[in-house]
Amino acid sequence: MQITVLGAGVIGLTSAYYLSRAGHRVTVIDRHAEVASETSFGNGGQLSYSYVAPLAGPGVLSKLPVWLSRRDSPVRFKPSASPEQWRWCIEFALACTKNRSNLTTRRLLSLSFLSRTLMHELVREESTLDFDFSHSGKLVLHRDAHAMQSAVELLEFQRTLGCEQQALTSDECVSLEPALESVRAEIAGGIYTPSEDTADCHRFCKGLESLLRARGIRFEMNTSIDALRRTTRGRVEIVSGDIALDADQIVVAMGTGAQRLLKPLGLRLPIYPLKGYSLTYQLGPRAIAPKLSVTDFTRKVVYARFGDRLRVAGMADLDGYSLEPDPARVAALRAETASLFPFAATDATAASEWTGLRPATPRGAPIIGPTPYRNLWLNVGHGALGFTLATGSAALLVSWLNDVPDPALTENFRFSL
Ligand SMILES: Cc1cc2nc3c(=O)[nH]c(=O)nc-3n(C[C@H](O)[C@H](O)[C@H](O)COP(=O)(O)OP(=O)(O)OC[C@H]3O[C@@H](n4cnc5c(N)ncnc54)[C@H](O)[C@@H]3O)c2cc1C
Repeated sequence: MQITVLGAGVIGLTSAYYLSRAGHRVTVIDRHAEVASETSFGNGGQLSYSYVAPLAGPGVLSKLPVWLSRRDSPVRFKPSASPEQWRWCIEFALACTKNRSNLTTRRLLSLSFLSRTLMHELVREESTLDFDFSHSGKLVLHRDAHAMQSAVELLEFQRTLGCEQQALTSDECVSLEPALESVRAEIAGGIYTPSEDTADCHRFCKGLESLLRARGIRFEMNTSIDALRRTTRGRVEIVSGDIALDADQIVVAMGTGAQRLLKPLGLRLPIYPLKGYSLTYQLGPRAIAPKLSVTDFTRKVVYARFGDRLRVAGMADLDGYSLEPDPARVAALRAETASLFPFAATDATAASEWTGLRPATPRGAPIIGPTPYRNLWLNVGHGALGFTLATGSAALLVSWLNDVPDPALTENFRFSL
C-alpha cells in the first residue's frame, strides 16, 4: 500500500518507520525544512513508561485557584474567549475522577509497556541510531510527607499493573543520586523506577529520518497541508497549495496542527495545546549534575542527562497556540534548576531556551486508529507522553492498517465521534 504520513515529528516518523517495516511504501510530508521542528524538538527526554497517570485526576480541581492566580505555579490557565479552550476545560474537569484517572492510567500503562519493549528492540536492531539513549532509571522526589504518602499509594496500585518501583527515604535518594546532596533536608522521600530510560528526542527523529531515507522513504519537506478534502466513496485527499494529492491511505500525525484540518471533515478532535518550556545546559568538566533522570514532583520539573548536556523541562500553560515564551516562566525554570542542582551549571544563565506545545487531550490518552473516512487514520494527541508512547502508538496504527488490530489494546485509543 502507498501510505502518506502527515507530520514529521516523533509520532509521524515512528509511524513511517513501522509502516515501512511492514512493507508499505511511505511518504512523509511536513511544513518545515527539518524534521522534529515543533514539539518533538526540545522535550524533556523522558521515556517514562511507568509515569503515565493523566494530569486529570482527583484533587486537581482544588488546585485551580492557585493555577489561576500564581505566575510561578507549574500549571497555569489563562482563560480566553475561545470555545475550543472552554470545551477542552469542561471535558478535562469531567475526567478528574478517581475511576476515570485509574482507567486511563491502566490503558496508558499497557501502551507504554509495549512502547518500552519496542524501543529496546529498536535500539538493539538499529545500531546506527545515536540519540543519547540511556537506561538511566528515574527518581521522583517528593518534598512533603502527604504527597509522598499518595505516591506510595499510587506505587501500590501500579504494582498490581506490573510496575516495579521502590519507595526511598531522603538519605536513600541522595545515596542513589549524589547530585541531590544540597537539598537532602528538603526531600520527604522518593519513588525510584529502575526501568525508565532517557534520550534526546530530536536526535532520535534525525536518526530515524536518515535511516528512513536510506530505505527509500520519500520526504516532502517545506510542504504545508492546507486542507483535507472529501472525495468520492468516503475517501479524502490532501490539499497543498493548488495541488491535490491522492494516497491509498493517509495517516494524520500533525500534533497540535491536526484538529484544524479535521474539523471541516466533521471530525472534532479534543486536542488543545499545553505550552511547556525547556532549558538545555552545557555541562562543564566540574559540573555536579544528576546522572539519573530526576523529577521534582512538587514543581513538576523533569531533569535528564544527555551526555555532557542537562535538559530541564516543565510548566504547562493552557493559553492558546502562541509559542512566545513568558520570561517569568523561563526565569522560574532557571530558579528551580539552580535550587535543586546548584553546581550543575557554572553560568546559570547559559542555557538554550525552548517552548513547545503538547498536543493534549482532556483525558490524557492519545487517539490512534481509523476514522469514518476509508483512507484516513489518526495517530495524534500524545500530550506530555509523545516520545514515551511513540513506538507503541506506531505499532497499534500498523496493526489497524494491516487489518489485524488487537482489540484488547486498540479499542482503548480509537476515535469516536
Ligand atoms: C516542555 C515539554 C516537555 C516534554 N517532555 C516530554 C518527555 O519528557 N517525554 C515524552 O514522552 N514527551 C514529552 N513531551 C511531549 C512530546 O514532546 C510530544 O507529545 C511529542 O513531541 C508530540 O509529537 P508529534 O509528532 O505528535 O507532534 P510534533 O512534534 O509537533 O510534530 C507534528 C508535525 O506536524 C507538522 N504539521 C502540523 N501541521 C501541519 C500542516 N498543516 N502541514 C504540514 N505539516 C504540519 C509540524 O510541522 C510538525 O513537524 C514534552 C513536551 C513539551 C512541550
